[in-house]
Amino acid sequence: MKHELPVENRVIELISTLQGAGFEAYIVGGAIRDLLLGRRPKDYDISTAATPEEVRNVFGRRSARIIGKRFRLVHVRHGGELFEVSTFRRAPSPESAAVGPDGRKHEELPEHMILSDNSFGTAEEDAWRRDFTVNALFYDPVRSELIDHTGQGIDDIRSGVVRAIGNPRLRFEEDPVRMLRALKLVGQYDFSFDAATENALFAMLPLIRHAAPSRLSLELEKILSSSYGDKHLLAFHDYGLLEYFLPEIDTAWGSPVCEYALNLFNERNCRVAEGIYRNSISLAMATLALPFVEQQCGSPVGTLWKNSPDARAAIAGVLDRLFRPQTMMNRMTLSAERVLQLQALFGEPKSRPEQLMESRSYAHSRELLLIRTAVQEGDVAELERLWPPVGARRRGGRNDGRNAEGEGGGGRRPRRRRHRSRRGKEPES
Ligand code: ATP
Ligand code: MG
Repeated sequence: MKHELPVENRVIELISTLQGAGFEAYIVGGAIRDLLLGRRPKDYDISTAATPEEVRNVFGRRSARIIGKRFRLVHVRHGGELFEVSTFRRAPSPESAAVGPDGRKHEELPEHMILSDNSFGTAEEDAWRRDFTVNALFYDPVRSELIDHTGQGIDDIRSGVVRAIGNPRLRFEEDPVRMLRALKLVGQYDFSFDAATENALFAMLPLIRHAAPSRLSLELEKILSSSYGDKHLLAFHDYGLLEYFLPEIDTAWGSPVCEYALNLFNERNCRVAEGIYRNSISLAMATLALPFVEQQCGSPVGTLWKNSPDARAAIAGVLDRLFRPQTMMNRMTLSAERVLQLQALFGEPKSRPEQLMESRSYAHSRELLLIRTAVQEGDVAELERLWPPVGARRRGGRNDGRNAEGEGGGGRRPRRRRHRSRRGKEPES
């Protein structure tokens, strides 16, 4: 079906390069979903008939790198951006379920769990092995052609329905991470489930324990770097997933400490969505952790060092507990620790902006200071003046919200005491 979608030029170029080399190629996944919902996609996933090696040959080794084991795909650098290009796949055969890449059967895993997903197929087969109808649309931006192989994707996007493709129980057993992905859609877009998918989710939820830890940690990173994290956590809690995913936050749910943490996180997400600050994962971690650190130390974060000699250990302990059982990258945890430690220095009468600005964590720490001041309805403008953005003094430059923290360049909240709804455009990833 002909459909004009506002796709970026470099994506059209990439697709047309693949098509010019003789390979079918489409935009797939979240980008189409977002474009149809009138939102700006955070990134573009590309799917093609070319094998990973063929994709690498088309773009050359300097621009294209094959990655992944369970699911091999190619990272293609084009127009200064990185794109994930995957080859059309078909659903793995039943024999390959619960069999690892080493060919060994894993007895303790659910019978139908998929451990390897590398059987190439056609575009249509590729659509059917995807998780939800709203994620299975293909778009050819060269011909402006929108293809809905399952026949339900466009309607489900219009009516906001999360519907598993095929038998929902089987699809969740094959890959329990799909349940988490389903709830992200519910939280992020305020979608609701079709009945069969919802029933299957309730029945299969405990299988999330069998999901590979590395995949869950990756999901947590994506949640923390998005601007919808508070909405994702709310959906996880409402459906009972949070007790498996982040049990410490689940246990604290509803307490004033957790409410405060979610308010801070919501404020951070609004600021990311508005483009005020970038989507740093370590800042998101620090933001969520701050009220728990205050609780642990029995002292507001601004007076930590005066009142709590063990604050450093408390900060590390809270971060470790809060994000368990997921394992966050060490450098993100260390960065979050520094951001929290610096909060106390903003309250010190002797602290000078010039000194604090020397710290690698100044930009994130300043942002956290502004976030908590905004949530407490304090004078944000005054603090912005008092604590200038990075580079404002040393280079006299414009603040772009970026710093040297070493990370990549970076609703529905009915029960909150305070909720700021978002304005403005979608954030860059
Ligand atoms: P986001 O906007 O968060 O990137 P997304 O839907 O694009 O959302 P990705 O992880 O980028 O999520 O996956 C791209 C596409 O790959 C999905 O839209 C879906 O079609 C397919 N996909 C991803 N994970 C799975 C899975 N576990 N099972 C089946 N299909 C999947
Ligand atoms: Mg995507």
